[in-house]
Amino acid sequence: MSIYLDDKNFNPDAYDVIAIGAGYSGSCFARAFLDEHPDARIAILERRPHIGGNAFDEYDAHGVLIHTYGPHIFHTHMKEVYDFLSRFTEWIDYEHRVLANIHGKLVPVPFNRTGLEAAFGKDEADELYQLLVEEFGDETKVAIAKLMQSPNEKLQKVANYIYEHIFLYYTMKMWGKKPEEIDGAVTARVPIYISRDDRYFQDAYQGLPREGYTKMFERILDHEQIDVFLQTDVLEHASIKDERLCFHDKPFKGIVVYSAPLDELFDRKLGALPYRSIEMHFEYMKQDQFQSAATVNYTTTEDFTRITEFKLMTGQEVLGTTILKEYPRAYNPLGSIDPYYPIQNEDNQKLYEAYRNQAEKLQDFYVLGRLGEYRYYDMDDTVKAALDLASRVGRTYTK
Ligand code: UDP
Repeated sequence: MSIYLDDKNFNPDAYDVIAIGAGYSGSCFARAFLDEHPDARIAILERRPHIGGNAFDEYDAHGVLIHTYGPHIFHTHMKEVYDFLSRFTEWIDYEHRVLANIHGKLVPVPFNRTGLEAAFGKDEADELYQLLVEEFGDETKVAIAKLMQSPNEKLQKVANYIYEHIFLYYTMKMWGKKPEEIDGAVTARVPIYISRDDRYFQDAYQGLPREGYTKMFERILDHEQIDVFLQTDVLEHASIKDERLCFHDKPFKGIVVYSAPLDELFDRKLGALPYRSIEMHFEYMKQDQFQSAATVNYTTTEDFTRITEFKLMTGQEVLGTTILKEYPRAYNPLGSIDPYYPIQNEDNQKLYEAYRNQAEKLQDFYVLGRLGEYRYYDMDDTVKAALDLASRVGRTYTK
């Protein structure tokens, strides 16, 4: 592998595959494709000065390993995905636990039986818990939207409490909209646990790459057939002509895998696809520990959504501690903050589909990932999609 710091040496003719974006999509696709076709020559074009996409991590000025684009905790139930990444990293055993700060009182998120007791007192909580079990079953999970529809008045009270204290203000900050105004799948990511489970994720495989995400990406990309071009903007090298993606004005005969925002490729001519961004504020403190959980969500106060304290996730032994406050922002294509989350709703999906239809006309052109597919993918979903695409494209590939 070579990693180039700019595009000076990029010669499209030298490659069979060009992947746009060196995050999970482009990197995992490239490596999985080479598993099947070790002779293929692959270029990855990355606009940023580093690999790893939003999973990129680095040591800050105080030697604390931070997640530059917000906390990333790997979790999956897919053995195939876990096994694939495990070729490139060992894991720190880590189960993420989150607390909500409700006007100074800390309760588990997802909200669970412990939260019920904190909110209603032990006796009433026991009664309410029995009602939850009767309606939804013990050791189950229920989305807030579903709980709100309970016909039981006492459970409606529970639902309203959780809605008001966990979801409403946080969601307003995060999306600028109320929970009922956004796609239900978004708040359903954080259901209410009818149990005492206080883990944020319940997947069989959970952890953090032992030496960090960036190291893991370095190893994924460490293959003699892969060249990565950093600080290289695909839009300065590619154009669309006669339903073919051209590089340097010549139709590219190979395969293109695209994991950047799809509207950019078409000059946003149908309108800009909305994304949500986050402004990251890191603070280093000399004290050993700042808070009692790796992430504390501020669900009733503050302008930021949550504070993450990295050493509580990584277990790093280091002097002092670094925390991150996340401030959600509207994504502005001309601004300095990158897009983070697609905003799922019918209108946006329609706009995306319109771009997607245009993309489908391009030969041997595939979209992938959170930005490319405009889907609220977790890391494992992204890897799975990349592995599946590599095997699908690989099946018919001839050099
Ligand atoms: N959410 C909330 N309160 C919380 C945690 C989550 O209202 O304490 C809602 C919010 O709308 C958020 C969504 O649930 O955007 C999904 O949360 P998740 O933690 O999965 O978001 P991510 O970590 O992907 O930003």
